[in-house]
Amino acid sequence: MANERISVVQGDITLERVDAIVNAANSSLLGGGGVDGAIHRAAGPKLLTECRRIGGCDTGEAVVTGGYRLPAKWVIHTVGPVWHGGGLGEAELLTNCYRNALRLAVENGARTVAFPSISTGAYRYPVDEASRIAIRTVSEFLSVDDTIEEVRFVCFDTHTYSAYQRALEEHLGTQGLPRNSASP
Ligand code: ADP
Repeated sequence: MANERISVVQGDITLERVDAIVNAANSSLLGGGGVDGAIHRAAGPKLLTECRRIGGCDTGEAVVTGGYRLPAKWVIHTVGPVWHGGGLGEAELLTNCYRNALRLAVENGARTVAFPSISTGAYRYPVDEASRIAIRTVSEFLSVDDTIEEVRFVCFDTHTYSAYQRALEEHLGTQGLPRNSASP
């Protein structure tokens, strides 16, 4: 079942022991604050060298690099939309982030993938809406993919964690399935 492969935890994504972690990057790929800064600090300078070589990434798209000093083998960098009120295609762009990141995970043979809450920090996407999009898009992807074993949402703070847990519960509810615990 697709939904049984989704989990929500609170923590620091740089510590996750998964095949691939996803970075909420900016379009320059040259690093920044938030989760992007944390991933570059933990991976070490070779990550920036590889990102420079790639040159950049459009909003909604994704690129893959090595994980270097991270426990994860790969970092999948995706660029979330900046929230401008919802009328500039933000929802579709955020959907594309999750879809394209998972597509790259599959192409590289990653079986376990950890996501941060894309766009809900510096890019100001409201977390209730963003978490619903994240859960729905990942669930849809997993329902037609049988190679990925686990997608873990790693939420840094309690507020974000609660929103993702709620979104997962709601999603399970709308599907008429038994309500699992949101954590493994
Ligand atoms: P964006 O620019 O896409 O909004 P941010 O990095 O500013 O990206 O924020 C996205 C989310 O990542 C926020 O919920 C933020 O609290 C969270 N975050 C920051 N550091 C980490 C980390 N080490 N692990 C997981 N999530 C993190």
